[in-house]
Amino acid sequence: MRKVAATPADRRIVVLGGGIAGLAGAIALARRGYPVTLIERDPPPPADRDQDPFLAWKRRGVPQFRLPHGFSARARSLLAAHAPDVLERLRADGIEEINVFKQLVAPELWQPSDDEFTVVWARRSAFELALRRSAEAEPGIRLLSPEVASGLCFERSPGGPPRVTGVRLADGRELDADLVLDCGGRRSPVSRWLAAEKAHVRTELQDCQTVYFSRYYRFTPGCDLPKTAVAVLRGELESVMYLGFPGDHDTFAICLEARPDDRDMRLLRHTWAWEATARSIEEVAPWIDPANATPVNEVQTMGGHHNVRRRYVVDGRPIVLGLLAVGDALCTTNPAYGWGASMALTYAFAAAEAVVRHDPDPVAVALAYDAATTSEADAVYRESAAMDRARIYRHTGQAVPEHDRAEMERQHLIAEAVSAGVFFDLEVGRAFCRRVNLAGPADAVLDNPDITSRARHAHDRLTSAPAPKAGPDRQELRSIVLAARPRSTA
Ligand SMILES: Cc1cc2nc3c(=O)[nH]c(=O)nc-3n(C[C@H](O)[C@H](O)[C@H](O)COP(=O)(O)OP(=O)(O)OC[C@H]3O[C@@H](n4cnc5c(N)ncnc54)[C@H](O)[C@@H]3O)c2cc1C
Repeated sequence: MRKVAATPADRRIVVLGGGIAGLAGAIALARRGYPVTLIERDPPPPADRDQDPFLAWKRRGVPQFRLPHGFSARARSLLAAHAPDVLERLRADGIEEINVFKQLVAPELWQPSDDEFTVVWARRSAFELALRRSAEAEPGIRLLSPEVASGLCFERSPGGPPRVTGVRLADGRELDADLVLDCGGRRSPVSRWLAAEKAHVRTELQDCQTVYFSRYYRFTPGCDLPKTAVAVLRGELESVMYLGFPGDHDTFAICLEARPDDRDMRLLRHTWAWEATARSIEEVAPWIDPANATPVNEVQTMGGHHNVRRRYVVDGRPIVLGLLAVGDALCTTNPAYGWGASMALTYAFAAAEAVVRHDPDPVAVALAYDAATTSEADAVYRESAAMDRARIYRHTGQAVPEHDRAEMERQHLIAEAVSAGVFFDLEVGRAFCRRVNLAGPADAVLDNPDITSRARHAHDRLTSAPAPKAGPDRQELRSIVLAARPRSTA
């Protein structure tokens, strides 16, 4: 029989994974009086504070660490509400807070609610470092880093789900736990460990069918490119898409995306192919011009992106007790939409709230957490997967199957009409900004019929204007890439 501890201070909470979800969850719980042990496989950030963590922090556990991240406004709002010291650290580190919407709209048209579109312009390293420093300063958090979790310990009761009672470390030691947060990210091993206990996590999965080829740059001092423009830099050619990401300390990233089955575009992993391609895209070329910017790193490539939604409560019953999946371990979306970090924070703070309200009842904690997160996790998963299917149908020329037609028409309206409205109709612009910034649920953008009809109207105005040629078509791009190939690799 487990002895139930009387106060939060007597509880043992273990957080597996010290990325965005794990750090935020640990901070939130420790501040509510729960002692937390956080296990992170990677070493701490470099002690020398003059070193750029982007280059110096060894983060093999987060393969996307040096890939571009843009943080939707929800991330900032959540930090302001739950961990304002993290925002203070970002500010002290020189991180800018920018409201692109307000920069583009005349001040007399601003509304107070437009403040919810303010974002932080940071690379992932700067954002995570601020969270990490706050966690390190928190007396209630014991950080084990580097330390690898290699399994969970369970207790079984007849007819009930398994209950997690601890975490096994790679060296064989066990840490007792009343509750474990699985913050192990998109490749978290926990669902495999649960399967071995016959607790099967129901999983929905859809391939994003995209590969990132990206590179960070730093603005040349005195460069007169408007920084805001990189935040709205995005476009789609026949075989590549391009995206801009503002960063901290005068950095920004350019990301080229291609389909994983496009053999020619795989060459984009080479600097020569990437640069030739980026230079050939009219909108991108100025950003990589040596007169304006200098590369911070080599081209970083990452594929294997999936939309994933995992369910831990099935038919109203938790499949496991004493465990909450938080962050990407619960739901992963296409990184290009920039929702992952905000949702990781959303789940982390919801987990802490469920614990504070319902601990020590593990069933109540699991159900409360599920109730607080399900509809939003479902919404981001569905929207991300649907946007991906829309792009895949478009790129492959595949006919939209009957069962997906209504959703694809809705996505078309969101992508084309709502974004067109940004230029012509302030209210439609606000609806679009609310969606990309997760200022409301991701799927609520067309809930208001007035917005829908205004978006259609704006779209009609946009389609009557000729679309500018943004860059080379598939054949031209192939020739450009092949011509750039150094002789020694041909
Ligand atoms: C290429 C790419 C670009 C992205 N761009 C954006 C973006 O622009 N905006 C955005 O909001 N999101 C973006 N994301 C998503 C974002 O990175 C994730 O949603 C976010 O990091 C999720 O946080 P997390 O804490 O759940 O997982 P992570 O941040 O991945 O952290 C997981 C942690 O768990 C640790 N860990 C795992 N297993 C163990 C173990 N067994 N023992 C100990 N430690 C362990 C890892 O080392 C890691 O530190 C991007 C993702 C990718 C792949």
